[in-house]
Amino acid sequence: MCIRLNGTPASPGVAIGPAFILNVEEIRVRRKELSGDDEVDREVGRFREALEETRGELERISESVNDIIEGQQLIEVHMLLLNDPSMISDVENRIRNERVSAEYAVSRVLHDVLERFGGMRDPYLRNRAADVRDVGRRVMANLLGTEREALMSIQSPVVLVSRDLDPSQTAGLSRRQLLGIATDLGGSTSHTSILARSMGIPAVVGLGEAAGSTVPGQTVIIDGIHGDVILDPDQDQLEYYSELKKRYNAAEAEMALNAENPAVTADGAPVELSANIEFSQEADQVRRFGGRGIGLFRTEFLRLLAPEMEDDEKVHFNAYKHVLETLDPEPVIIRTLDLGGDKFNDSIPTERNPFLGWRAIRICLDRPEKFSVQLRALLRASRFGNARIMIPMITDRDQVIRVREMLERIAGELDRRGVERGEVPPLGIMVETPAAVLALDILLPHTDFVSIGTNDLTQYTLAVDRGSPYVSDLFDSFHPAVIRQIEMVIRKCREAGKWVGTCGQMASEPLAIPLLLGFGVNEFSVPITLIPDVKEMIRSVNLAEARRIAERSLLLGSGDEIRNLVLDYVQSRYPDIILDEIHRDREDGGA
Ligand code: PEP
Ligand code: MG
Repeated sequence: MCIRLNGTPASPGVAIGPAFILNVEEIRVRRKELSGDDEVDREVGRFREALEETRGELERISESVNDIIEGQQLIEVHMLLLNDPSMISDVENRIRNERVSAEYAVSRVLHDVLERFGGMRDPYLRNRAADVRDVGRRVMANLLGTEREALMSIQSPVVLVSRDLDPSQTAGLSRRQLLGIATDLGGSTSHTSILARSMGIPAVVGLGEAAGSTVPGQTVIIDGIHGDVILDPDQDQLEYYSELKKRYNAAEAEMALNAENPAVTADGAPVELSANIEFSQEADQVRRFGGRGIGLFRTEFLRLLAPEMEDDEKVHFNAYKHVLETLDPEPVIIRTLDLGGDKFNDSIPTERNPFLGWRAIRICLDRPEKFSVQLRALLRASRFGNARIMIPMITDRDQVIRVREMLERIAGELDRRGVERGEVPPLGIMVETPAAVLALDILLPHTDFVSIGTNDLTQYTLAVDRGSPYVSDLFDSFHPAVIRQIEMVIRKCREAGKWVGTCGQMASEPLAIPLLLGFGVNEFSVPITLIPDVKEMIRSVNLAEARRIAERSLLLGSGDEIRNLVLDYVQSRYPDIILDEIHRDREDGGA
């Protein structure tokens, strides 16, 4: 029977396909005693076969991710772990000495190894535990003959339904096999949603009860435009959504064809329109979609695919060099590691309030040795293009000063060692805490540019966890408290002659664009696939009118009032933009 659920639209588009429910249970294996030597030999043989099958799987995955350098590196690490002689002999010794089944021996060895890793203080080493677990599960799945969490081994395209999804799980999924994502938890600015958008996969999050209500294999429709998910749809719904999907895809393709149009307002004012990227290879797509440079390279995502990156300068260097060369001479803003919060909690101590805890620049400055690896790679790569460095989650002036000192010191060291490097790039800050807004006059003399991170600025201003479905109705970037801060930041930057961009999700929201333009922002940085929509919107807005609207918005009392003000304006000028058209159709009595 058909069930319709409503959640938060996280990544636009429509997907229809069979459900794959992510099984997050641990595999529990009973102890099974073997009766004779033959059985012991057979179990050792089964274990070796499972290893062989797992090797084959990893090789196949490695081929399927060969367009992503970081993906290759992740698989290499998994291959090393799989072939680790001490783990292999541990398992075989257990089978022989304790006369237990291969599954049981693997589960015990895994248990011991994971316990050792789990007790380590070094977050990097603790993170290795996730890799061991991953590899162990693959071997187990092959021994048990079941398809467990081996998402990457999905044979035909599916819609993934799960309670929650880590950014690392999302990044590990093959784009070809993944039609759409539905999760019970998460908000539209959670990092899993950001990743789904960057991968161009339709997604709805914060559904509350999708995972429990879905039957594996049943047809699921994901409407990532409106935030609807339909389980077991009837024929009428299937037809309606198939048509919607076709029209959405066609309109998207047409938008991409307009990539050559300049990003200028209707009255001719040029605006910079750049891309947010999570992986270096995405840089290849920016021009095709009509973007200029990169306004935000979330470098921490490299780590999902190359967990050793923190220590490996080569991984950083190759990624930055690729992006800089690809987009030269356009600016590329590379953000230093923004770990913590909802990203990679397994490598960072558990805290009660991770968003208020050890996150971003705080971690980097507390671990200068590891941070230096990234800064060194940035300095070495900066000679390949127009690099800028940006620091996330700034609250204190000293944080900026310390990063600048580190950059200068590392540049000197490189020179002494005769290592080639580029100029020290301009150093900017993300304004994403109320502290940075209110103390901007203190920070500005130390910073070359500013980018407003509206996701975190909204979260920290309104005290609303950006990933929580329970308070998602309170997460509102149009709230007067947020809008007034954005206006203040842009005004102060302009007064000080500093460049100011926006790179949070708000920069791609149609109703926010006239406001941000009216306040005088220099740049919009948005997910690549949204560049054409944002450009259309910029091209339809008259800057003089936008300024008047932006000014009036500062006097209004709620997010809804501000949205309505912009909506009234936009409705008269909005071009035939795709989301609007679909919205109208739906209200006209679609599904
Ligand atoms: C933001 O906070 O708005 C931002 C762009 O950074 P992130 O989403 O990566 O936290
Ligand atoms: Mg942020």
